[in-house]
Amino acid sequence: MSPRPPHTDAASQAGPAKPGQVKSITSVSNPMIKEIRALATQRKRRKEAGLFVAEGLKLITDAMQADWPIRTLVFGAEVREQPMVAQAAAKARARGATVLDVNRAVLTAITRRDNPQMVVGVFEQQWFDTERIDPARGPLWIGLDTIRDPGNLGTIIRTADAVGADGIILIGDTTDPFAVEAVRATMGSIFHMPIARMTRETFLKWRKSWPGAVIGTHLEGSIDYRKAAYTDPTLLLMGTEQSGLPEEMTAACTQLVRIPQAGQADSLNLAVATGVMLYEIRRDKLVLEG
Ligand code: SAM
Repeated sequence: MSPRPPHTDAASQAGPAKPGQVKSITSVSNPMIKEIRALATQRKRRKEAGLFVAEGLKLITDAMQADWPIRTLVFGAEVREQPMVAQAAAKARARGATVLDVNRAVLTAITRRDNPQMVVGVFEQQWFDTERIDPARGPLWIGLDTIRDPGNLGTIIRTADAVGADGIILIGDTTDPFAVEAVRATMGSIFHMPIARMTRETFLKWRKSWPGAVIGTHLEGSIDYRKAAYTDPTLLLMGTEQSGLPEEMTAACTQLVRIPQAGQADSLNLAVATGVMLYEIRRDKLVLEG
């Protein structure tokens, strides 16, 4: 049997936990808990710290499997004995993370839910360096202009992963991919999908070096999306939820396509439209396995 980890009680020992240590916390006003809550709720704090919060054992296991650096693992005392939780805690400790054994009130405070997730992780953010975008090795990228909704962004990251896209560029003032809601909606795909960011100005300059098609999607596009030619490399450009792609962005496209609609809806949801486009672009490459 492996020796039990050093286990300290916050009530009996003042000061922050040391990396690799397991610490019990029962107070919602403990500074470490306040900091995790701030990371979960405040974009400004995430940006300053370069960290983010993932909630739920599946996400945390996925992140550690993909080798995302973990800083803190929090688990509820009531799941302490579950083998998967114990394994995750051991792995986090071995990687130098602080492990916190907490009560339900603390988890409720962190996750802001009466029925909280029992495992929460704090990880380092990872952004893909735009200079490493290589259309020869990764021919399908998606540009999202000023995307605002974290649920849409998470869903797009998940769909991009599902079709085997090579990465996503967040253009302009977008929502935070490391917001709890966005991370949750990715269902773990955020740990596998390169995400780069550029201002619109930088994007328009960078786009000149993109050697292939730049397919814009627009409600006034003249080409049926099923009739466009999708050759590698392709950069798919999606517009913002409220107003679509602005003129300076459509001017940067090689083709503007439209998804036909019947009925009264004035447009498709951004994540749905992105999914429709990605499956069309990948139509010949995706096959059922097994
Ligand atoms: N009122 C906005 C407009 O005028 O464009 C609607 C934007 S729509 C909710 C968000 C994005 O989804 C669009 O910018 C476009 O990229 C894509 N989209 C939605 N429906 C589409 C369609 N029927 N054809 C092409 N793109 C579409």
